[in-house]
Amino acid sequence: MHVNDASTDVLRTRVSGDVLTASDAGYESARRVWNAMIDRRPAAIVRPRNAADVAVAVTFARERRLPLAVRGGAHSVAGMGTCDGGIVIDFSSMKAITVDPETRTARAEPGVKWVDFDNATQAHGLATTGGTVGDTGIAGLTLGGGFGWLEGAYGMTVDNLLAADVVLAGGDQVRASADENSDLFWALRGGGGNFGVVTAFEYRLHPVGPMIAGGMVVHPYSAARDVLRFYRTLLEGAPDPLTAAAAIMTGPDGQKACAIVCAYAGPLEEGLRAVEPLKTFGSPVLDAIGPIPYLGQQALLEQAMPPGVHNYWKAEFLDRPTDGFIDTWVDAYSRVVSPMSFLLLFPIHGAAARQPVDATAFPNRGGIHLGIYALWKPGEAEAPNVSWVRETWTRIQPFASGGLYVNEIGGDDGQDRVRQAYGPNYARLAAIKAKYDPENLFRLNANVEPAAV
Ligand SMILES: Cc1cc2nc3c(=O)[nH]c(=O)nc-3n(C[C@H](O)[C@H](O)[C@H](O)COP(=O)(O)OP(=O)(O)OC[C@H]3O[C@@H](n4cnc5c(N)ncnc54)[C@H](O)[C@@H]3O)c2cc1C
Repeated sequence: MHVNDASTDVLRTRVSGDVLTASDAGYESARRVWNAMIDRRPAAIVRPRNAADVAVAVTFARERRLPLAVRGGAHSVAGMGTCDGGIVIDFSSMKAITVDPETRTARAEPGVKWVDFDNATQAHGLATTGGTVGDTGIAGLTLGGGFGWLEGAYGMTVDNLLAADVVLAGGDQVRASADENSDLFWALRGGGGNFGVVTAFEYRLHPVGPMIAGGMVVHPYSAARDVLRFYRTLLEGAPDPLTAAAAIMTGPDGQKACAIVCAYAGPLEEGLRAVEPLKTFGSPVLDAIGPIPYLGQQALLEQAMPPGVHNYWKAEFLDRPTDGFIDTWVDAYSRVVSPMSFLLLFPIHGAAARQPVDATAFPNRGGIHLGIYALWKPGEAEAPNVSWVRETWTRIQPFASGGLYVNEIGGDDGQDRVRQAYGPNYARLAAIKAKYDPENLFRLNANVEPAAV
């Protein structure tokens, strides 16, 4: 259905927050998302102040059969946090955080980004597993699973979610936890934005830092094969608190390189001993591993992934980086187009891997998440960057294990890839979807189609 000025005026009178349409001064900046490749024009952007505003926006979209997108930190590379011609609920106006150091819990609104969350919790020496780039939203990351530096010690972000306040498709406001609407709570922990709009998240926190052992070590690209074989051995023997990622990228000097980034979520002295092999292996061009504030660790990758550039990504899972995979992976980077692009391996291990596949909706309890990330500046050609990602992805298919991280599904990935991401949990998710959102109002996401009942 079409939205006209009169109907958006109705929306303005019913919500206490802002409503922006194309005629408003702030509309152009409000419609932008992190990935500058996404260029969409919603009919109205609602910035709610509270759950009641969210219920109004949900009801408005449902009654008029409008597309409805929900946006936390706007980091969905596929652009799922926006739409053309519909309603966007943009949580940038809801950013409250409360930390209770006694119970080691935090309650946060969905506009909060990890940098805000980490600052608030580290003020009490606490943290939970969160994104590795501070600008990422807690909302989308949490609902898809959430890997990060603390996962080996404390599990995925979803494993630390205690409860959520949710506005359902019918406009009702409910709470989901282990004791209340437990089916919904299960689905929210990995099922993405399919089941409702979350207006508050409650997390379990852990003592972390303020100083930890972490940082990165960078080797020349010519040593990449040896570095990745060393990395494979490191992962096989890594204690739970040691989480390490491997990247092939281009350094600020324009040289291709292979880096291992790591963090130890435990006592500093113990961590320094655990990261020692990373410092003694090979002939690094940069060794920046040592004591680092947890907040510094969380800022380490910020510059590698700035907002406002074009992004095209593809992801997959790997059981183990075999020699054949390593050869293919390293060779693929020799054909990279943009120096901003990189290849990443990030394991799901330790506490994150010990949960049963059906403990939450997030099914990838082990293996290595693999990301092929093309980033290029506005004005540079899109086609060769997209081709590099697609070709690399095709070349690594013989090594893929079948898993896929739902939060890195591409905008052009089809329904078969969505099912791949939810894996064996898809059928249960589809049944819960039929109960909570039978009309599939919440479909601008890695969509679970309601099961036929
Ligand atoms: C630079 C960068 C770094 C990243 N690093 C990591 C990382 O370290 N670990 C990791 O696990 N992932 C990482 N990711 C992937 C990240 O988890 C996803 O991009 C995620 O969607 C980001 O959440 P967001 O709130 O910022 O996104 P948004 O684009 O705002 O939202 C994405 C989707 O989440 C859903 N959603 C958002 N808010 C709500 C809500 N309140 N209620 C219901 N549904 C909602 C909607 O379906 C929405 O389309 C990274 C992404 C980027 C771009």
